[in-house]
Amino acid sequence: MSADAPITQDVMTIPRKLPEGKVNLVGLTRDALREVLIAHGTPEKQAKMRTGQIWQWIYQWGVRDFDAMTNLSKAYRAELKENFEIRIPEMVSCQVSADGTRKYLARIAGGHEVEVVYIPEADRGTLCISSQVGCTLTCSFCHTGTQKLVRNLTAGEIVGQVMMARDDLGEWPEPGTRKDETRLLSNIVLMGMGEPLYNFENVRDAMKIAMDGEGISLSRRRITLSTSGVVPEIAKTAEEIGCLLAVSFHATTDEVRNKLVPINKRWNIETLLGVLREYPRLSNSERITFEYVMLKDVNDSDEDARRLVNLIKGIPAKINLIPFNEWPGAPYERSDWSRIERFADIVYKAGYASPIRTPRGEDIMAACGQLKSTTERARKSRREIAEEAKLSP
Ligand code: SAH
Ligand code: SF4
Repeated sequence: MSADAPITQDVMTIPRKLPEGKVNLVGLTRDALREVLIAHGTPEKQAKMRTGQIWQWIYQWGVRDFDAMTNLSKAYRAELKENFEIRIPEMVSCQVSADGTRKYLARIAGGHEVEVVYIPEADRGTLCISSQVGCTLTCSFCHTGTQKLVRNLTAGEIVGQVMMARDDLGEWPEPGTRKDETRLLSNIVLMGMGEPLYNFENVRDAMKIAMDGEGISLSRRRITLSTSGVVPEIAKTAEEIGCLLAVSFHATTDEVRNKLVPINKRWNIETLLGVLREYPRLSNSERITFEYVMLKDVNDSDEDARRLVNLIKGIPAKINLIPFNEWPGAPYERSDWSRIERFADIVYKAGYASPIRTPRGEDIMAACGQLKSTTERARKSRREIAEEAKLSP
């Protein structure tokens, strides 16, 4: 791939209602769910209550079958069954790493596949979810960036990954029982395949559903969205989603960042830092995570470390150092461990937390940046993407 590849928002979103098909309720906001119930004959006066009931069955108890919704009349359940479905991505496979990491392959409409990774840790369980099939951006160190086929996931397909993982982990409470507060799946990171801010509305709706107190009920502080730096959407992330933000920074000069994260040619380091300085936070503890992939002899010098801390001065931040995860044909190498530690030390002494991310699930290619679905039918050529790029804003 080339670092000069175009930056494009080349995506399509499949309609929620397939022609002649049933409407999938998963992924609809509460308002949209209410509307769709009314459109299919639920009396307006009852719609709010019905929305709440159905919502709870789907997102609190994990029920997929209308027949199990026992607080609704049989006749109403039959109506629901006729018009609607509760569909989430299908789990095609689940690979388990020696370290307990689980990598799922999820099949979505159109036969596309996306990867989802569950990472158990002592004090939390993090699910790394995808927002797109592939990615239109072409960061030169990222395996997903080499995948040509791209489509936006729907909100249902995004929150559906969380539901799929909860199925696998057996984490839905019995209907009527109290919510279990010790969670196997306690955190979500939007760090799988795709650029979440190029699929803003669907990501927002999906995360709103995951945060809803009468459902999956994850706190906004347990959700982290990672972006390569889609500047115009960053402020909206705080305002409309309210989750934590991570930024794929990876370089300290525009020259190097242009090569690693080509979106930098559109919004350079200065512009990106400008918007991050303004990022609204409800409290000072909500730091921005700067992700920094450690590439041997590319961005890992002492000088880089010093430049980095100078650049981000004034931004409440932590620096997450990610040892590069190799993939077949990757053009980079991981920095030596001693180099990573030295870099971390400089950053730490300048007053920033600088954890080194332990690679997880490497044996099953589940580590950051290693994801790439093998289904590439209906590929798009680079030329096609370039053509469309000229049309995009
Ligand atoms: N598109 C978003 C989110 C997905 S990538 C983004 O770029 O932020 C999640 C993180 O993994 C990003 O910080 C990305 O730069 C990093 N990453 C990608 N490829 C990697 C690799 N091979 N090794 C280590 N980290 C990688
Ligand atoms: Fe896309 Fe993120 Fe990979 Fe870049 S690092 S190609 S933005 S998924």
